Amino acid sequence: MTEANPRVLVVEDEQTIADILMDYLRKAGFQAHHLANGSAAIEVIRRDPPDLVVLDLMLPGVDGVAVCREVRRFSTVPVIMATARVEEVDRLLGLEVGADDYICKPFSPREVVARVAAVLRRSGRTPAGDPAPPRVDIDEAGQRIAIQGQRLDLTPTEYRLLRLLASHPGRIYSRAQILDLAYHQDQEVSDRIIDSHIKNIRRKVAAILPEANLIQAVYGVGYRFEM
Ligand code: CA
Repeated sequence: MTEANPRVLVVEDEQTIADILMDYLRKAGFQAHHLANGSAAIEVIRRDPPDLVVLDLMLPGVDGVAVCREVRRFSTVPVIMATARVEEVDRLLGLEVGADDYICKPFSPREVVARVAAVLRRSGRTPAGDPAPPRVDIDEAGQRIAIQGQRLDLTPTEYRLLRLLASHPGRIYSRAQILDLAYHQDQEVSDRIIDSHIKNIRRKVAAILPEANLIQAVYGVGYRFEM
């Protein structure tokens, strides 16, 4: 990345949505560019890669999924997919498609700007002057997690849950995935128990970082860890 403000490419076939997004992105200090179709986007990303792409899923011709797959053959540029269907999210973020994040339509432009900034920060493309993200250390051998160098007093289940989320910042885990990945098979657990563990972890994190919202609930989907 250059010294200049991060460049965001918006790929969106609805001109009104694109105009509003670009307006907000520019006001937030990004350089915003717009393309209305998928094949042009692939060419531009290949020739003159932006710092981030906001990619509409439903495009005429080559759709967002095909664009993202093709781009992933030659580039690791962060891609935020815009979709109206929350049930597609797992697939979009999976290896098969390879998007970094998603936003659900209808979205608020403010929300898009926040997601763009978060994904850029995660990918190390932050503009100078942004605060550094909190430091999170996971000690696998000792089953301990520290935030800003301070150890969290976690139960074994809370440790597994937080380790799962914190190992992949930005990745959204559904409650079913959390059950699969962070709990022992023989445990009888319900969604509500996950929510209560999350609540406890948040309380312990807040004792160290009161302002941070590290574990975010994603409405209708699950949870993600965001720095
Ligand atoms: Ca569209």
